[in-house]
Amino acid sequence: MADSNLYQQAKAILFGVSVADALGVPVEFKSREYLHLYPVTEMKGYGTYNQPEGTWSDDSSMTFCLAESLTNGFNLDDIAQKSVQWMTQAYWTPHNEVFDIGIITRQSLARYIQGIPTQECGGKDVMDNGNGALMRILPLLFEVKDMPLKERFSTICAVSSLTHRHIRSHFACLYYLEFAAELLKQNDKFIAYQNVNERIASFIQEVEISEIEPFKRLVLGDISHLPEDEIQSSGYVIHTLEASIWCLLKTDNYRDAVLKAVNLGQDTDTTAAVTGGLAGLFYGFDAIPTEWVNLLAKKDNIEKLSIRFSEYYMQKV
Ligand SMILES: [Mg+2]
Repeated sequence: MADSNLYQQAKAILFGVSVADALGVPVEFKSREYLHLYPVTEMKGYGTYNQPEGTWSDDSSMTFCLAESLTNGFNLDDIAQKSVQWMTQAYWTPHNEVFDIGIITRQSLARYIQGIPTQECGGKDVMDNGNGALMRILPLLFEVKDMPLKERFSTICAVSSLTHRHIRSHFACLYYLEFAAELLKQNDKFIAYQNVNERIASFIQEVEISEIEPFKRLVLGDISHLPEDEIQSSGYVIHTLEASIWCLLKTDNYRDAVLKAVNLGQDTDTTAAVTGGLAGLFYGFDAIPTEWVNLLAKKDNIEKLSIRFSEYYMQKV
């Protein structure tokens, strides 16, 4: 079960996401067939973006921007401004360079720069459902977890809408944060999965019944029964969400969960980052291999952010 100490939880999510992201960066876009032959088993450098080992990407940058912004009090413009600072000035980047950014995210942040309100910036077409909101949403858990479900959802929608405005992305972020919240209370991840499904299946059907279709395998079935070749790992938000829950349920420690995610191929860093957030929370910061944490770029800054983030939420309760 997740650590009850807020500082440990903050470290677990921030390092959980970024360590996994960094494991996936060198092999982003590699096929599953390639990774079956040459699986990632340790923190490696170079490859896809020619970055040294321990280099995390946009997933972590935007997660850190959100976490840091929340410590100033919940403010959509502040979240947007920090994200823009990342995109245009390489704020919260491992080596002062932005080398990975999604198309929808870039277009949405450009709209914010032009003066569009935060909640109207994101892509709203059904084809705009990449995983760019899901990959950065986890710190919002501490802001929303004690709210009633409807308020939780509207807050999540507001934060997601900066880059992703389609309701499918909103439901995906909600599902992910519900799962994370459940892992804080549960020491059995399968019971957590059941509880989330019961709650979210009826919520989706109540809010937008046609959206139950894309969530069907995850929410109405048991994703852990599916073989690997039925789990996809593209940049589509449903694929990332399904793969992350599948990797969490199919393994029993942080290392195996995130390596499983990376070795699914394609969007390796994001699939791993989304898996790594939940696995970090569930197994705790101490379960993240120390040698991976020690290799992480700007490790001390992430550590300091964990302290600030947990202190903020400690004084809030
Ligand atoms: Mg990335």
